[in-house]
Amino acid sequence: MKFVSTRGKNEPVSSARAIYQGLAKDGGLFVPESIPQLSLQDIDSLRAMPYHERADFIIGKFLTDYSAQELGYATSSAYSNSNFPEQVAPVVNIDGEYSVLELWHGKTSAFKDMALQILPYLLTIAMKKEQIDQQVLILVATSGDTGKAALEGFQDVPGTRIVVFYPEDGVSDIQKLQMATQQGDNVHVFAVKGNFDDTQTGVKNIFANEQMNEQIEKLGYKFSSANSINWGRLVPQIVYYFSAYVDLVQEKVLELGDKVNFCVPTGNFGNILAGYYAKCMGLPVNKFICASNANNVLTDFINQGVYDRNRPFYQTNSPSMDILISSNLERFIYLLSGQDSKLVADYMQQLNSNGRYEIAPDLLRKVRETMSGYCYDDAQTCSQIKQVYESKKYLMDTHTAVAYKAAADYRTQSGDPTHTVILSTASAFKFSQDVLMSLDQDIAALDSFEQNRLLSKLSAQSVPTRIAALETAPVRHQTVIDKEEMFASIKSIL
Ligand SMILES: *Cc1c(COP(=O)(O)O)cnc(C)c1O
Repeated sequence: MKFVSTRGKNEPVSSARAIYQGLAKDGGLFVPESIPQLSLQDIDSLRAMPYHERADFIIGKFLTDYSAQELGYATSSAYSNSNFPEQVAPVVNIDGEYSVLELWHGKTSAFKDMALQILPYLLTIAMKKEQIDQQVLILVATSGDTGKAALEGFQDVPGTRIVVFYPEDGVSDIQKLQMATQQGDNVHVFAVKGNFDDTQTGVKNIFANEQMNEQIEKLGYKFSSANSINWGRLVPQIVYYFSAYVDLVQEKVLELGDKVNFCVPTGNFGNILAGYYAKCMGLPVNKFICASNANNVLTDFINQGVYDRNRPFYQTNSPSMDILISSNLERFIYLLSGQDSKLVADYMQQLNSNGRYEIAPDLLRKVRETMSGYCYDDAQTCSQIKQVYESKKYLMDTHTAVAYKAAADYRTQSGDPTHTVILSTASAFKFSQDVLMSLDQDIAALDSFEQNRLLSKLSAQSVPTRIAALETAPVRHQTVIDKEEMFASIKSIL
Protein backbone atom coordinates (compact mmCIF):
# COMPACT_ATOMS: atom_id res chain seq x y z
CA MET A 1 0.00 0.00 0.00
CA LYS A 2 1.40 3.37 -1.05
CA PHE A 3 0.53 6.79 0.33
CA VAL A 4 -0.08 9.92 -1.72
CA SER A 5 -0.70 13.56 -0.86
CA THR A 6 -4.20 15.06 -0.77
CA ARG A 7 -2.75 17.86 -2.90
CA GLY A 8 -1.36 15.48 -5.51
CA LYS A 9 2.24 16.72 -5.76
CA ASN A 10 4.16 14.22 -3.65
CA GLU A 11 5.39 10.99 -5.24
CA PRO A 12 3.73 7.88 -3.71
CA VAL A 13 5.63 6.73 -0.60
CA SER A 14 5.61 3.71 1.70
CA SER A 15 3.64 3.87 4.94
CA ALA A 16 6.90 4.02 6.90
CA ARG A 17 7.90 7.10 4.92
CA ALA A 18 4.46 8.70 5.33
CA ILE A 19 4.59 8.21 9.09
CA TYR A 20 8.15 9.35 9.41
CA GLN A 21 7.69 12.41 7.20
CA GLY A 22 4.34 13.42 8.77
CA LEU A 23 3.31 16.05 6.25
CA ALA A 24 3.64 15.71 2.45
CA LYS A 25 6.15 18.01 0.72
CA ASP A 26 3.40 19.89 -1.12
CA GLY A 27 1.79 20.81 2.20
CA GLY A 28 -0.93 18.17 1.82
CA LEU A 29 -1.73 15.23 4.07
CA PHE A 30 -0.78 11.63 3.35
CA VAL A 31 -3.65 9.31 2.42
CA PRO A 32 -3.66 5.68 1.29
CA GLU A 33 -3.81 5.24 -2.46
CA SER A 34 -6.79 2.91 -2.11
CA ILE A 35 -8.93 1.75 0.77
CA PRO A 36 -8.75 -1.90 1.87
CA GLN A 37 -12.11 -3.65 1.94
CA LEU A 38 -13.41 -5.92 4.71
CA SER A 39 -16.29 -8.35 4.31
CA LEU A 40 -18.87 -8.91 7.05
CA GLN A 41 -17.09 -12.22 7.76
CA ASP A 42 -13.81 -10.35 8.24
CA ILE A 43 -15.55 -7.98 10.61
CA ASP A 44 -17.18 -10.84 12.48
CA SER A 45 -13.79 -12.50 12.88
CA LEU A 46 -12.68 -9.55 15.03
CA ARG A 47 -15.25 -10.48 17.64
CA ALA A 48 -13.19 -13.22 19.24
CA MET A 49 -10.00 -11.16 19.33
CA PRO A 50 -8.58 -9.09 22.19
CA TYR A 51 -8.19 -5.40 21.33
CA HIS A 52 -4.53 -5.57 20.35
CA GLU A 53 -5.28 -8.29 17.79
CA ARG A 54 -8.12 -6.24 16.35
CA ALA A 55 -5.62 -3.39 16.03
CA ASP A 56 -3.11 -5.69 14.39
CA PHE A 57 -5.69 -6.81 11.84
CA ILE A 58 -6.97 -3.34 10.89
CA ILE A 59 -3.68 -1.42 10.98
CA GLY A 60 -1.98 -4.22 9.04
CA LYS A 61 -4.31 -3.58 6.08
CA PHE A 62 -2.71 -0.15 5.67
CA LEU A 63 0.88 -0.53 6.89
CA THR A 64 1.75 -3.33 4.49
CA ASP A 65 5.48 -2.58 4.60
CA TYR A 66 5.62 -3.39 8.33
CA SER A 67 6.31 -7.07 9.03
CA ALA A 68 3.82 -9.14 11.03
CA GLN A 69 6.41 -9.27 13.78
CA GLU A 70 6.96 -5.50 13.85
CA LEU A 71 3.26 -4.74 13.92
CA GLY A 72 2.49 -7.45 16.45
CA TYR A 73 5.13 -6.01 18.75
CA ALA A 74 3.74 -2.49 18.35
CA THR A 75 0.10 -3.40 18.96
CA SER A 76 0.68 -5.76 21.87
CA SER A 77 3.01 -3.29 23.59
CA ALA A 78 0.73 -0.27 23.04
CA TYR A 79 -2.52 -1.91 24.12
CA SER A 80 -1.04 -3.87 27.02
CA ASN A 81 -2.56 -4.26 30.46
CA SER A 82 -0.09 -1.84 31.95
CA ASN A 83 -1.15 0.91 29.53
CA PHE A 84 -4.87 0.09 29.72
CA PRO A 85 -5.37 -1.58 33.10
CA GLU A 86 -9.11 -2.31 32.81
CA GLN A 87 -10.35 -2.59 29.26
CA VAL A 88 -8.99 -0.77 26.25
CA ALA A 89 -12.17 0.63 24.69
CA PRO A 90 -15.34 -0.67 26.34
CA VAL A 91 -18.82 0.07 24.98
CA VAL A 92 -21.36 0.92 27.65
CA ASN A 93 -24.98 0.48 26.72
CA ILE A 94 -26.83 3.46 28.21
CA ASP A 95 -30.26 2.37 27.10
CA GLY A 96 -31.75 0.81 23.98
CA GLU A 97 -31.01 3.84 21.82
CA TYR A 98 -27.49 4.88 22.74
CA SER A 99 -24.20 3.30 23.66
CA VAL A 100 -21.12 5.13 24.83
CA LEU A 101 -17.71 4.08 23.55
CA GLU A 102 -15.32 4.98 26.37
CA LEU A 103 -11.96 5.91 24.90
CA TRP A 104 -10.33 7.22 28.06
CA HIS A 105 -9.11 4.14 29.88
CA GLY A 106 -5.46 4.82 29.00
CA LYS A 107 -2.68 6.54 30.95
CA THR A 108 -3.81 10.14 30.50
CA SER A 109 -7.60 9.64 30.75
CA ALA A 110 -8.33 11.01 27.27
CA PHE A 111 -8.84 9.33 23.92
CA LYS A 112 -5.51 10.59 22.57
CA ASP A 113 -3.89 7.59 24.28
CA MET A 114 -5.58 5.30 21.76
CA ALA A 115 -3.24 6.59 19.05
CA LEU A 116 -0.34 8.09 20.98
CA GLN A 117 0.55 4.90 22.82
CA ILE A 118 1.23 3.19 19.50
CA LEU A 119 2.60 6.08 17.42
CA PRO A 120 6.10 5.99 19.00
CA TYR A 121 6.42 2.30 18.03
CA LEU A 122 5.19 2.96 14.49
CA LEU A 123 7.53 5.92 14.17
CA THR A 124 10.69 4.30 15.54
CA ILE A 125 10.11 1.20 13.37
CA ALA A 126 9.63 3.55 10.39
CA MET A 127 12.96 5.27 11.14
CA LYS A 128 14.75 1.96 11.20
CA LYS A 129 13.18 0.99 7.88
CA GLU A 130 14.10 4.31 6.33
CA GLN A 131 17.63 4.05 7.78
CA ILE A 132 17.41 7.42 9.45
CA ASP A 133 20.28 8.05 11.81
CA GLN A 134 19.22 11.47 13.02
CA GLN A 135 17.11 11.79 16.13
CA VAL A 136 13.45 12.69 15.68
CA LEU A 137 12.30 15.87 17.31
CA ILE A 138 8.56 15.68 17.88
CA LEU A 139 6.85 19.08 18.02
CA VAL A 140 3.35 19.19 19.46
CA ALA A 141 0.86 22.02 19.71
CA THR A 142 -1.83 20.97 22.14
CA SER A 143 -5.15 22.20 23.42
CA GLY A 144 -4.53 19.94 26.42
CA ASP A 145 -4.96 16.24 25.77
CA THR A 146 -2.60 15.58 22.86
CA GLY A 147 0.35 17.08 24.70
CA LYS A 148 0.11 14.86 27.73
CA ALA A 149 -0.67 11.74 25.72
CA ALA A 150 2.29 12.41 23.41
CA LEU A 151 4.61 13.02 26.38
CA GLU A 152 3.56 9.71 27.92
CA GLY A 153 3.93 7.90 24.61
CA PHE A 154 7.38 9.28 23.80
CA GLN A 155 8.83 9.41 27.31
CA ASP A 156 12.37 7.98 27.15
CA VAL A 157 11.83 6.40 23.72
CA PRO A 158 15.39 6.06 22.31
CA GLY A 159 16.13 8.24 19.28
CA THR A 160 13.37 10.75 20.05
CA ARG A 161 12.94 14.09 21.83
CA ILE A 162 9.61 15.77 22.30
CA VAL A 163 8.67 19.42 22.77
CA VAL A 164 5.11 20.32 23.73
CA PHE A 165 3.59 23.81 23.51
CA TYR A 166 0.24 24.56 25.13
CA PRO A 167 -1.77 27.82 25.41
CA GLU A 168 -1.11 29.15 28.91
CA ASP A 169 -4.76 29.86 29.71
CA GLY A 170 -6.39 27.38 27.37
CA VAL A 171 -6.17 24.12 29.34
CA SER A 172 -7.74 22.84 32.57
CA ASP A 173 -5.78 22.82 35.86
CA ILE A 174 -5.49 19.05 35.77
CA GLN A 175 -4.29 19.11 32.16
CA LYS A 176 -1.69 21.73 33.04
CA LEU A 177 -0.43 19.69 35.99
CA GLN A 178 -0.35 16.52 33.93
CA MET A 179 2.08 18.19 31.55
CA ALA A 180 4.05 20.15 34.14
CA THR A 181 4.87 16.98 36.09
CA GLN A 182 5.90 14.86 33.12
CA GLN A 183 8.87 12.59 33.78
CA GLY A 184 11.49 11.58 31.26
CA ASP A 185 14.87 12.80 30.02
CA ASN A 186 13.75 13.58 26.46
CA VAL A 187 10.63 15.68 27.25
CA HIS A 188 10.17 19.48 27.21
CA VAL A 189 7.05 21.51 27.89
CA PHE A 190 6.36 25.22 27.31
CA ALA A 191 3.28 27.30 28.08
CA VAL A 192 2.67 29.88 25.33
CA LYS A 193 0.90 33.23 25.82
CA GLY A 194 -2.01 33.08 23.38
CA ASN A 195 -4.75 30.66 22.34
CA PHE A 196 -4.52 27.22 20.77
CA ASP A 197 -4.64 28.48 17.19
CA ASP A 198 -1.66 30.77 17.92
CA THR A 199 0.23 27.80 19.28
CA GLN A 200 -0.72 25.53 16.39
CA THR A 201 0.16 28.19 13.84
CA GLY A 202 3.54 28.66 15.53
CA VAL A 203 4.33 24.96 15.22
CA LYS A 204 3.11 24.78 11.61
CA ASN A 205 5.30 27.75 10.69
CA ILE A 206 8.34 26.09 12.22
CA PHE A 207 7.65 22.88 10.28
CA ALA A 208 7.31 24.87 7.05
CA ASN A 209 10.38 27.06 7.58
CA GLU A 210 13.37 25.73 5.62
CA GLN A 211 15.99 27.67 7.53
CA MET A 212 14.69 26.41 10.84
CA ASN A 213 14.66 22.87 9.48
CA GLU A 214 18.27 23.26 8.34
CA GLN A 215 19.39 24.62 11.70
CA ILE A 216 17.80 21.66 13.44
CA GLU A 217 19.32 19.18 11.02
CA LYS A 218 22.79 20.61 11.67
CA LEU A 219 22.22 19.76 15.31
CA GLY A 220 21.44 16.16 14.35
CA TYR A 221 17.66 16.26 14.54
CA LYS A 222 14.72 16.00 12.18
CA PHE A 223 11.28 17.43 12.94
CA SER A 224 8.27 15.16 13.08
CA SER A 225 4.71 15.56 14.22
CA ALA A 226 2.45 13.73 16.63
CA ASN A 227 -0.61 15.79 15.69
CA SER A 228 -3.41 14.08 13.82
CA ILE A 229 -2.09 15.27 10.48
CA ASN A 230 0.23 12.24 10.80
CA TRP A 231 -1.22 9.08 9.24
CA GLY A 232 0.33 7.11 12.10
CA ARG A 233 -1.99 8.96 14.47
CA LEU A 234 -5.06 8.40 12.37
CA VAL A 235 -4.83 4.74 11.46
CA PRO A 236 -4.98 3.41 15.06
CA GLN A 237 -8.22 5.36 15.52
CA ILE A 238 -9.98 3.37 12.80
CA VAL A 239 -9.68 0.27 14.98
CA TYR A 240 -12.08 1.26 17.75
CA TYR A 241 -14.96 1.86 15.36
CA PHE A 242 -14.75 -1.79 14.32
CA SER A 243 -14.11 -2.84 17.89
CA ALA A 244 -17.24 -1.07 19.16
CA TYR A 245 -19.32 -2.58 16.39
CA VAL A 246 -18.32 -6.18 17.08
CA ASP A 247 -18.73 -5.67 20.82
CA LEU A 248 -22.30 -4.51 20.18
CA VAL A 249 -22.88 -7.59 18.00
CA GLN A 250 -21.45 -9.72 20.78
CA GLU A 251 -23.83 -8.11 23.27
CA LYS A 252 -26.73 -8.65 20.85
CA VAL A 253 -27.50 -4.95 20.68
CA LEU A 254 -26.83 -5.28 16.94
CA GLU A 255 -26.98 -8.12 14.49
CA LEU A 256 -24.07 -8.50 12.13
CA GLY A 257 -24.82 -6.28 9.13
CA ASP A 258 -27.05 -3.82 11.02
CA LYS A 259 -26.15 -0.19 10.55
CA VAL A 260 -25.10 2.13 13.37
CA ASN A 261 -24.62 5.88 13.76
CA PHE A 262 -21.53 7.34 15.38
CA CYS A 263 -21.65 10.68 17.14
CA VAL A 264 -18.24 12.27 17.66
CA PRO A 265 -17.17 15.33 19.67
CA THR A 266 -14.99 16.99 17.08
CA GLY A 267 -12.07 19.42 16.96
CA ASN A 268 -9.36 18.73 14.42
CA PHE A 269 -11.66 16.24 12.63
CA GLY A 270 -9.25 13.32 13.18
CA ASN A 271 -11.48 11.11 15.27
CA ILE A 272 -14.57 11.38 13.09
CA LEU A 273 -12.49 10.99 9.93
CA ALA A 274 -11.11 7.68 11.24
CA GLY A 275 -14.74 6.58 11.53
CA TYR A 276 -15.36 7.56 7.94
CA TYR A 277 -12.39 5.44 6.86
CA ALA A 278 -13.95 2.52 8.76
CA LYS A 279 -17.15 3.07 6.82
CA CYS A 280 -15.27 3.17 3.51
CA MET A 281 -13.63 -0.14 4.49
CA GLY A 282 -17.04 -1.78 4.85
CA LEU A 283 -18.24 -1.08 8.40
CA PRO A 284 -22.06 -0.71 8.24
CA VAL A 285 -22.53 2.95 9.21
CA ASN A 286 -25.63 4.97 8.50
CA LYS A 287 -24.68 8.46 9.65
CA PHE A 288 -21.91 10.35 11.39
CA ILE A 289 -22.95 13.14 13.71
CA CYS A 290 -20.33 15.84 14.10
CA ALA A 291 -20.67 17.59 17.48
CA SER A 292 -19.01 20.96 18.14
CA ASN A 293 -18.96 23.58 20.86
CA ALA A 294 -19.29 27.35 20.33
CA ASN A 295 -16.41 27.14 17.85
CA ASN A 296 -18.90 25.88 15.31
CA VAL A 297 -16.97 26.22 12.07
CA LEU A 298 -17.70 22.57 11.19
CA THR A 299 -21.42 22.85 11.89
CA ASP A 300 -21.65 25.74 9.46
CA PHE A 301 -19.58 23.84 6.93
CA ILE A 302 -21.85 20.80 7.06
CA ASN A 303 -25.00 22.89 6.89
CA GLN A 304 -23.97 25.49 4.33
CA GLY A 305 -20.90 24.20 2.52
CA VAL A 306 -18.82 27.21 3.52
CA TYR A 307 -15.72 26.77 5.64
CA ASP A 308 -14.95 30.14 7.17
CA ARG A 309 -12.40 30.57 9.91
CA ASN A 310 -12.88 34.34 10.03
CA ARG A 311 -14.84 34.37 13.24
CA PRO A 312 -14.26 34.92 16.93
CA PHE A 313 -12.40 32.22 18.84
CA TYR A 314 -14.16 31.09 22.03
CA GLN A 315 -12.61 29.45 25.06
CA THR A 316 -15.20 26.91 26.14
CA ASN A 317 -15.61 24.26 28.82
CA SER A 318 -14.72 21.63 26.20
CA PRO A 319 -11.26 23.06 25.40
CA SER A 320 -10.01 20.12 23.35
CA MET A 321 -12.54 21.15 20.71
CA ASP A 322 -11.61 24.85 20.70
CA ILE A 323 -10.32 24.85 17.14
CA LEU A 324 -11.05 26.95 14.08
CA ILE A 325 -8.93 25.06 11.57
CA SER A 326 -9.83 21.39 11.44
CA SER A 327 -6.84 20.03 9.55
CA ASN A 328 -8.23 16.61 8.78
CA LEU A 329 -11.21 17.97 6.90
CA GLU A 330 -8.79 18.08 3.98
CA ARG A 331 -8.67 14.28 3.90
CA PHE A 332 -12.46 14.05 4.05
CA ILE A 333 -12.91 16.39 1.09
CA TYR A 334 -10.30 14.41 -0.81
CA LEU A 335 -12.22 11.18 -0.25
CA LEU A 336 -15.69 12.61 -0.94
CA SER A 337 -14.58 14.37 -4.12
CA GLY A 338 -13.33 11.08 -5.58
CA GLN A 339 -9.67 11.84 -4.72
CA ASP A 340 -9.68 15.14 -6.61
CA SER A 341 -6.32 16.53 -5.46
CA LYS A 342 -6.54 19.60 -7.69
CA LEU A 343 -9.81 20.60 -6.09
CA VAL A 344 -8.40 20.02 -2.60
CA ALA A 345 -5.28 22.07 -3.36
CA ASP A 346 -7.49 24.88 -4.64
CA TYR A 347 -9.71 24.94 -1.53
CA MET A 348 -6.68 24.84 0.78
CA GLN A 349 -5.08 27.68 -1.14
CA GLN A 350 -8.25 29.74 -0.60
CA LEU A 351 -8.30 28.82 3.08
CA ASN A 352 -4.71 29.92 3.37
CA SER A 353 -5.16 33.27 1.66
CA ASN A 354 -8.76 34.23 2.55
CA GLY A 355 -9.51 32.06 5.54
CA ARG A 356 -12.50 30.58 3.75
CA TYR A 357 -13.69 28.40 0.88
CA GLU A 358 -17.01 27.24 -0.42
CA ILE A 359 -17.52 23.74 -1.79
CA ALA A 360 -19.58 22.91 -4.90
CA PRO A 361 -23.26 21.95 -4.41
CA ASP A 362 -22.80 18.29 -5.40
CA LEU A 363 -19.98 17.93 -2.91
CA LEU A 364 -22.08 19.54 -0.20
CA ARG A 365 -24.84 17.03 -0.95
CA LYS A 366 -22.35 14.20 -0.34
CA VAL A 367 -21.17 15.79 2.90
CA ARG A 368 -24.74 15.99 4.12
CA GLU A 369 -25.56 12.43 3.12
CA THR A 370 -22.66 11.26 5.25
CA MET A 371 -22.80 13.64 8.16
CA SER A 372 -24.99 15.91 10.29
CA GLY A 373 -23.56 18.75 12.38
CA TYR A 374 -24.66 20.23 15.69
CA CYS A 375 -23.13 22.76 18.07
CA TYR A 376 -23.78 23.82 21.67
CA ASP A 377 -22.66 26.46 24.12
CA ASP A 378 -21.27 25.85 27.59
CA ALA A 379 -24.63 26.14 29.37
CA GLN A 380 -26.22 23.53 27.11
CA THR A 381 -23.24 21.26 27.71
CA CYS A 382 -23.64 21.56 31.49
CA SER A 383 -27.35 20.86 31.48
CA GLN A 384 -26.76 17.76 29.36
CA ILE A 385 -24.27 16.43 31.93
CA LYS A 386 -26.83 16.94 34.66
CA GLN A 387 -29.70 15.42 32.74
CA VAL A 388 -27.86 12.23 31.82
CA TYR A 389 -26.42 11.91 35.31
CA GLU A 390 -29.86 12.20 36.88
CA SER A 391 -31.86 10.16 34.41
CA LYS A 392 -29.37 7.44 33.42
CA LYS A 393 -26.90 7.50 36.32
CA TYR A 394 -24.10 8.01 33.80
CA LEU A 395 -21.44 10.61 34.43
CA MET A 396 -19.70 12.20 31.47
CA ASP A 397 -17.20 14.93 30.80
CA THR A 398 -17.95 18.13 28.89
CA HIS A 399 -16.75 16.87 25.48
CA THR A 400 -18.84 13.73 25.68
CA ALA A 401 -21.81 15.82 26.78
CA VAL A 402 -21.64 17.92 23.62
CA ALA A 403 -21.82 14.70 21.62
CA TYR A 404 -24.60 13.26 23.73
CA LYS A 405 -26.78 16.27 23.10
CA ALA A 406 -26.02 16.16 19.38
CA ALA A 407 -27.01 12.48 19.25
CA ALA A 408 -30.28 13.23 21.03
CA ASP A 409 -31.15 16.24 18.88
CA TYR A 410 -30.27 14.39 15.70
CA ARG A 411 -32.55 11.55 16.72
CA THR A 412 -35.49 13.85 17.44
CA GLN A 413 -35.05 16.02 14.38
CA SER A 414 -34.35 13.28 11.83
CA GLY A 415 -36.56 10.53 13.22
CA ASP A 416 -33.70 8.15 12.37
CA PRO A 417 -34.07 5.20 14.79
CA THR A 418 -30.60 3.71 14.12
CA HIS A 419 -28.68 2.71 17.24
CA THR A 420 -26.15 5.47 17.97
CA VAL A 421 -22.70 5.08 19.48
CA ILE A 422 -21.49 8.21 21.25
CA LEU A 423 -17.72 8.50 21.45
CA SER A 424 -16.62 9.49 24.93
CA THR A 425 -13.27 11.20 24.61
CA ALA A 426 -12.28 12.12 28.17
CA SER A 427 -12.83 11.00 31.73
CA ALA A 428 -15.05 13.30 33.79
CA PHE A 429 -12.16 13.57 36.26
CA LYS A 430 -10.14 15.53 33.76
CA PHE A 431 -12.73 18.31 33.81
CA SER A 432 -14.14 17.94 37.31
CA GLN A 433 -14.68 21.63 37.90
CA ASP A 434 -17.12 22.01 35.01
CA VAL A 435 -18.72 18.66 35.67
CA LEU A 436 -19.35 19.51 39.34
CA MET A 437 -20.74 22.92 38.45
CA SER A 438 -23.08 21.18 36.04
CA LEU A 439 -24.32 19.09 38.96
CA ASP A 440 -24.97 22.30 40.97
CA GLN A 441 -22.20 21.60 43.48
CA ASP A 442 -20.66 24.49 45.38
CA ILE A 443 -16.95 24.14 44.65
CA ALA A 444 -15.69 27.64 45.33
CA ALA A 445 -13.56 26.50 48.26
CA LEU A 446 -12.22 23.30 46.70
CA ASP A 447 -8.94 22.76 44.86
CA SER A 448 -8.73 20.38 41.89
CA PHE A 449 -8.01 17.36 44.04
CA GLU A 450 -10.79 18.05 46.52
CA GLN A 451 -13.05 18.47 43.52
CA ASN A 452 -12.01 15.07 42.24
CA ARG A 453 -12.72 13.47 45.59
CA LEU A 454 -16.18 15.03 45.61
CA LEU A 455 -16.81 13.83 42.08
CA SER A 456 -15.70 10.37 43.11
CA LYS A 457 -18.22 10.36 45.96
CA LEU A 458 -21.06 11.52 43.71
CA SER A 459 -20.29 9.07 40.94
CA ALA A 460 -19.18 6.06 42.98
CA GLN A 461 -16.16 5.83 40.63
CA SER A 462 -12.64 6.11 41.91
CA VAL A 463 -10.37 8.93 40.73
CA PRO A 464 -8.02 7.55 38.04
CA THR A 465 -4.80 6.66 39.91
CA ARG A 466 -2.55 8.76 37.71
CA ILE A 467 -4.73 11.84 38.19
CA ALA A 468 -4.84 11.37 41.96
CA ALA A 469 -1.04 11.02 41.97
CA LEU A 470 -0.61 14.51 40.49
CA GLU A 471 -1.31 15.96 43.93
CA THR A 472 2.14 15.00 45.17
CA ALA A 473 4.06 14.79 41.90
CA PRO A 474 6.96 17.27 41.56
CA VAL A 475 6.51 20.04 38.96
CA ARG A 476 9.30 19.81 36.38
CA HIS A 477 8.22 22.23 33.65
CA GLN A 478 6.99 25.75 34.25
CA THR A 479 8.44 28.01 31.57
CA VAL A 480 6.04 30.50 29.96
CA ILE A 481 7.04 32.04 26.63
CA ASP A 482 5.73 34.49 24.03
CA LYS A 483 4.54 32.96 20.79
CA GLU A 484 7.48 34.57 18.96
CA GLU A 485 9.88 32.61 21.18
CA MET A 486 8.84 29.11 20.19
CA PHE A 487 11.75 28.34 17.90
CA ALA A 488 14.28 29.89 20.27
CA SER A 489 12.93 27.66 23.04
CA ILE A 490 13.43 24.59 20.91
CA LYS A 491 17.03 25.53 20.19
CA SER A 492 17.66 26.26 23.84
CA ILE A 493 17.02 22.65 24.85
CA LEU A 494 19.08 20.93 22.15
C1 LIG B 1 -8.72 15.84 20.90
C2 LIG B 1 -10.04 15.74 21.56
C3 LIG B 1 -11.23 15.91 20.86
C4 LIG B 1 -11.25 16.25 19.38
O1 LIG B 1 -10.80 15.19 18.56
P1 LIG B 1 -10.37 15.50 17.05
O2 LIG B 1 -9.79 14.22 16.57
O3 LIG B 1 -9.38 16.60 17.11
O4 LIG B 1 -11.60 15.88 16.32
C5 LIG B 1 -12.42 15.74 21.53
N1 LIG B 1 -12.44 15.49 22.86
C6 LIG B 1 -11.32 15.34 23.58
C7 LIG B 1 -11.42 15.09 25.04
C8 LIG B 1 -10.08 15.45 22.96
O5 LIG B 1 -8.97 15.29 23.68
